[in-house]
Order: sequence, then structure tokens, then C-alpha cells
Amino acid sequence: MAKQNIDWSNIGFEYSKTAKRFVSNFKDGKWDDGVLTDDNTVVLNECAGVLQYSQSCFEGLKAYTSENGHIVCFRPDLNAQRMVDSAKRLEMPPFDPDRFVKAVVDTVKANADYVPPFGSGATLYIRPVMFGTNAVIGVKPATEYQFRIFTMPVGPYFKGGAKPITIKVSDFDRAAPHGTGHIKAGLNYAMSLHAIVTAHAEGFDENMYLDAATRTYVEETGGANFIFVTKDGTVVTPKSDSILPSITRRSIMTVARDVLGLKTEERKVSFEEVKDFAECGLCGTAAVISPVGKIYDHGKEILFPSGMEKMGPTIQKLYDTLTGIQMGRIEGPEGWVKVIE
Ligand SMILES: *Cc1c(COP(=O)(O)O)cnc(C)c1O
Repeated sequence: MAKQNIDWSNIGFEYSKTAKRFVSNFKDGKWDDGVLTDDNTVVLNECAGVLQYSQSCFEGLKAYTSENGHIVCFRPDLNAQRMVDSAKRLEMPPFDPDRFVKAVVDTVKANADYVPPFGSGATLYIRPVMFGTNAVIGVKPATEYQFRIFTMPVGPYFKGGAKPITIKVSDFDRAAPHGTGHIKAGLNYAMSLHAIVTAHAEGFDENMYLDAATRTYVEETGGANFIFVTKDGTVVTPKSDSILPSITRRSIMTVARDVLGLKTEERKVSFEEVKDFAECGLCGTAAVISPVGKIYDHGKEILFPSGMEKMGPTIQKLYDTLTGIQMGRIEGPEGWVKVIE
């Protein structure tokens, strides 16, 4: 297979159609074997469960070319397990985690000529999604579902280096206590759209959500978890039942503790103490870590000592180490990098 003729370093984060996608359907109580297909459309009954009551969940991960030329992806077993957790909370039938990983591998292999070359900074974004397909009008779970994995090449998240961003403390809530904040459900994003459009219109890059019950503890942004670094170098991440357990954040905490020998804490973080941290970053698959330079809170500003020009030193070290492990430059924990071909 020959690589697609794509200007890898100048593509954005947009959908494009690649050669193949994996599709499996759930009917009569079981998932079928699934197929790789050319068809990127979905034809649904107008009353499909996903269209009426938003029964859907998804995942996001990347395949990329490592330094030694292999196509790899990062900890897909954790995406598989998280999708099981999401499906269960939404009364959807979980897709077997081993089959999930195999389907990711098969889909990436079938689209190997869309995987950007090493050094381009671009990746093949992989989107697994599951949704209720049969007609549902009384409020209840669907009985038929589709699980689909499609891919698209996406550009480097940071063009010309990672510049710190400015975020605002949101007046909206992301997730209710005991709600669905801890799962990757489309519905969490539907209701965050107004908040992010509002934040952008006001000139901010992202929202910081506080806990919905008391508005005193830090939760996360619309699509990334927080890490903070204290003035004495401890890496701190908020703990809450309504935060989505980011695979990037969990990996960063392990790297901080086990590879870099830093002190780490996963605990409740009150908004009050944020002004005392030295560094702040957002963790997610897309950017790995986005540094935060400034937080705006109703007329008051928190400026981190790391400033608006570059990542703080500890976050930079975490970023370099995790991306080094992902790219195969640095030996990471067993099983983190899955070789596809
Ligand atoms: C997907 C997501 C993240 C990031 O998770 P990763 O596994 O690191 O990509 C963080 N927060 C929310 C709300 C998310 O949906």
C-alpha cells in the first residue's frame, strides 16, 4: 500500500472519509461478527433510540507511526474498558473489550495508508461510537445497536509549539453529582456546547467546570482533565466521581510517579487553592497536555508563574516523557504501546 498523498503537517482536526470502517450490529441479544466496509453512511429509522433519547457513547484514540516505523496505538485496552463502563451506565450492551481492541487494529490496518508518517506530528484519529438504532418512543433502552469504528487523519494539535491557553470558570455545570460525568456519553457534550460557544465568544479557549453541588471544587473542562503542579513540584490531579477518567491523565500520573520519581496526589482540589499552584495543564488524547497560562474567574485573574509563552518546566518534562514513550523513544510501562503493524 502507498501512503495517501496528503499534506500531513497542514491538515486540521476535521472529519474526512478514509477507506474502511468497522461496523457491528447488536440484535436478538448479541453482537454480530462485524465487517469492514466502505460505506460511511448510517441509515436509521426516524424514531431510532439515539435520535430520540440520545442513547450513545463514544471513544477517541490515535494511531501513529513510531520512531522505528511501526504503526502503533496507545493503551487501547483502556478505551475498550471505558466504553464497557459507558455502555453499562446507558443501559447499552457492552462490546467485548478484546473484540474492541481487535476491531481497532483491523480498522487501522485497513486504513494504513492514511496513518501519517513519523515526524509529521499528524496522527490517525480513531473514533469508536455506539448508538441505539431501533425505533423507541416510550422512554426505554433500545433493543438494537450499532458499534462503529471509523478513522481520519488529523494534523498536529499544536502548530509551532504549545502556547498556554486562557480559560474561564464557567457559570454552567458539566456533570451532576451521581450523573453521567464519568462516562463518555454524547449527551455530556450536547449540553456543553452552549457553554463552550459562550466562552469562545467571550474570548476564552476553554471552560473550567467546578463541582455542580457546591461550586467549590475543580472538576475538568469540556473534554480534558486538569493536572496542577505545586510550588514544591508535586503533581496534583482532582478526584471526583463526576470527572471522565482520562487515559492521558492516568498515564501522566503514572509517568510522574514511576518514571520521573515525582510526588503525585489524586485528591479533591478546591478552587481556592488553584492560585497557589505553579503550573496547570489540560490532559486529553488530542493535545496530550495543553498548558494553561491564565484562569479568569468573574473579574479576577489567576496567572500561573509559568506565564503565557511556554509550558512550565514540570509539565514540559511530563509532556516530553509521555510523548517519548508513545513514540518509542523512551521505554514505558509494559503494554502501553500496542504495535499494529
Ligand atoms: C475524552 C475526554 C477526556 C480525555 O480523555 P483521554 O482518554 O485522555 O482522551 C477528558 N474529559 C472528557 C470529558 C472527555 O470526554
